Amino acid sequence: MKRFDVYPLFNIELVKGEDAYIYDQDGTKYLDFYSGHGVISIGHSHPYYVEMVSRQLNQLSFYSNSIINPLQDQLAKRLGEVSGLDDYQLFLVNSGAEANEAALKIAAGQTGRRKIISLERGFHGRTALAIAASDNSKYHTAMNDLSIIQKVPINDLEAIEKAMNEEVAAVIVEGIQGIAGIYEPEKEYLEALSRLTKSTGTMLILDEVQSGYGRAGKFYAFEYAGIKPDLITMAKGMGNGFPIGGVAVAPHIAPPPNLLGSTFGGNHLACSAGIAVLDVIEKESLVENSAKIGSYLIDQLQEIKQAKEIRGKGLMIGIEFDFPIKEIRNKLLTEHQVFTGNAAQPNTIRLLPPLSIGEDEANQFIKALKHVLTAQNEAVYIS
Ligand code: PLP
Repeated sequence: MKRFDVYPLFNIELVKGEDAYIYDQDGTKYLDFYSGHGVISIGHSHPYYVEMVSRQLNQLSFYSNSIINPLQDQLAKRLGEVSGLDDYQLFLVNSGAEANEAALKIAAGQTGRRKIISLERGFHGRTALAIAASDNSKYHTAMNDLSIIQKVPINDLEAIEKAMNEEVAAVIVEGIQGIAGIYEPEKEYLEALSRLTKSTGTMLILDEVQSGYGRAGKFYAFEYAGIKPDLITMAKGMGNGFPIGGVAVAPHIAPPPNLLGSTFGGNHLACSAGIAVLDVIEKESLVENSAKIGSYLIDQLQEIKQAKEIRGKGLMIGIEFDFPIKEIRNKLLTEHQVFTGNAAQPNTIRLLPPLSIGEDEANQFIKALKHVLTAQNEAVYIS
């Protein structure tokens, strides 16, 4: 059998990771400013994380959700403590898309309604409903164009007020739109959305799969708006590479009978990874570090004259240019050994480094970027 070849690949095989660095099979060292789609939160192969997961693997790696698993309660307790939302309830799954599917289902069950409002340029995952609520037509098949979903532009309150009616079960928005190219919902917009959904009995779902877990300089990006969503979805940074996702459910929502379930969700090994991540985030003040190094990086990036706009918060940053960034990213990787991300917006580089980076790594990235941009300018001048 051969691989079902769906991904475009860089010709690199990685064999080792250590904090913000990854190594290929020839021993070449790379600076990781992308964390494999924003997954690495506490740094590659953090020793405490490795020890906790190894210990659990030696003890018991899996049993299904038909027995008491105290690790789930421990993870929920730690998440409540570290995120400050200790009155919420946690439902565990295995990925971001699954978390959003579960949140949408909870919303439909809770309201008895069937429609969804989502945002233009938004992304919520590849499963049927999550991709239908996403605005990436190239990821859609005819099966994913559902009339129960209406998309409205971000930060346009009038548009969402117009779209709202008594059939809408949920409004789903990203804490910061990631794949789109790092676009933030304004504070006033989220505040108004929170009021609007409360007054219409609609569930507000904050998709924090990419922007959560300290990525944007707060535990969840929506904290900048001071709101309390009905449902919060999370995944990427939650397991630092171990597949785990979750939905934090507000205290006023009772667990629905029969609607939810997962064979793997909340298994022992996943919980041990999730607990280890939260321990390290707290112990090493990684949310604060993300805010601090993120501001430093953004200040440095503002100085780069070729950059048209710098967007984002914490260590979730978009750098937009006047031209497609494909070549810059390739040169950063091949000439300076720096991994970065792209976005649906073709002129934007997306930065999602591990939350543990310091000024040294930030400076290393800025130096490499300036070098690539200067070389590019000179090439244009010579030709
Ligand atoms: N939601 C957001 C905001 C994402 O960025 C992603 C993935 O990039 C997802 C959901 C889907 O997560 P997963 O790939 O774990 O299903």
